Amino acid sequence: MLCPYCNFDESNVLESREAMDGKATRRRRECLKCGKRFTTYEKVSNVELKVIKKDGRIEDYSREKLQKCFERALWRVDDEKRSKMIDEIEMKLLNWESVEIPSSEIAKIVMDVLRETDPVAYIRFATIYKNIKSVDEFEELIVDYKINAK
Ligand SMILES: [Zn+2]
Repeated sequence: MLCPYCNFDESNVLESREAMDGKATRRRRECLKCGKRFTTYEKVSNVELKVIKKDGRIEDYSREKLQKCFERALWRVDDEKRSKMIDEIEMKLLNWESVEIPSSEIAKIVMDVLRETDPVAYIRFATIYKNIKSVDEFEELIVDYKINAK
């Protein structure tokens, strides 16, 4: 579990508690490198997250879909690292205020994670995830990226 402050991957667990009716564990952690404290939600079973699409439709969150997009956009990154990135994204999704998450928020969370790894991969990811086919849509995506990256 990466420290959100310095990205170090080892921390001490100070406290563990059940969260989301036993579907997740809330842990209070202390980073072994910078000493800052942070809270994580770790999934213990499938949490039923829902995605609110741009047109208002609601569909089940699918890790597989995210995984497939990651495989195509981040083919340079090894499986283990990709899997860790998805875990990190899911953890952030679990920390969202509701179990229904707008797809635009998911994109932002994905972007936050990808930006640190590879900004070009984000653009590739978004093209696949959003199924972009026209130059106009692509342009819109780049503009969005620049606005959100600030
Ligand atoms: Zn740290």
